[in-house]
Amino acid sequence: MGLVGWMQARRRYREMERRLATLDRLDGRDRASRRIVTLRLGRRWPLRDQVIMVVGCLVTVAALVFLPVTNLGRTDPAVHRYPALPSDAAATRILPPVTNAPTGAHAFMMTTADGKPVTYDPCRPIHYVVNLTGMPSGGLELVRSAVEKVGAASGLAFVEDGATLEPLVKVRAPRQPQRYGDRWAPVLIGWVDAAKFPLVSGDVAGVGGSSVVAPEGPGSERYISGQVALNRDWFTAAVARTGGDVNARAVVMHELGHLVGLAHVRDPGELMAESNSGLTDLGPGDRQGLAAVGAGRCHTDT
Ligand SMILES: [Zn+2]
Repeated sequence: MGLVGWMQARRRYREMERRLATLDRLDGRDRASRRIVTLRLGRRWPLRDQVIMVVGCLVTVAALVFLPVTNLGRTDPAVHRYPALPSDAAATRILPPVTNAPTGAHAFMMTTADGKPVTYDPCRPIHYVVNLTGMPSGGLELVRSAVEKVGAASGLAFVEDGATLEPLVKVRAPRQPQRYGDRWAPVLIGWVDAAKFPLVSGDVAGVGGSSVVAPEGPGSERYISGQVALNRDWFTAAVARTGGDVNARAVVMHELGHLVGLAHVRDPGELMAESNSGLTDLGPGDRQGLAAVGAGRCHTDT
């Protein structure tokens, strides 16, 4: 990419950073941090018993903002901090692409300069770990079921690495060699106490998002790790209700949708909708979007 193209991409990053920072300011409970941005888009999700929840989204943008800058020079010192290519990275995608998805409303959290969604690498598994602290009854099965559905709809291969004691925090390092070795940290899923994790408060059932790096500059963006934080009290109450497990699973699927790159849409027939009236499974646009974020590039640089 030439200098003009790079500058155009840089402007896009700055605009994205400005927009995200604006959203951050709108969320009065998270003024302290500009690195984690909560997209509080007013999602209202009435359950059958009229319990209202708002699902937020969480995106770490620091890597996206800073790595392209370091790449302007010929040498990129940040590259030396990237982990090696994982041993389970394949030459071709692990699962076949989803080609029979229906069509409908969908949107992407981030796109590259050429308009393609930023995605995870389909040639390697998306490893995930679960922090079982505060897990509601049946919580692990909920997560596994939601992961299976999102994996099948996207063609992305999720691999469960087991339990972890890593706490969920607002700003999570995407690389933790002492805990996880020389690789990108696995996706972290867990339940949090709203009092200790302000992004997930009484009316927010969960947040989810991923970190982005661009080792080769603009155009090479990809998600490399992420986090899904679920509201412990909300989930405990939800699974205690008859049939509440499918509502709870839908929240996990929604957050996993954010994790793999989907943003909110206005169509109420989609799980990624801002407003939802009891939808418990993926809609046609969700499926089209998931197929798209599952059809990204493979990478061999890190
Ligand atoms: Zn959301």
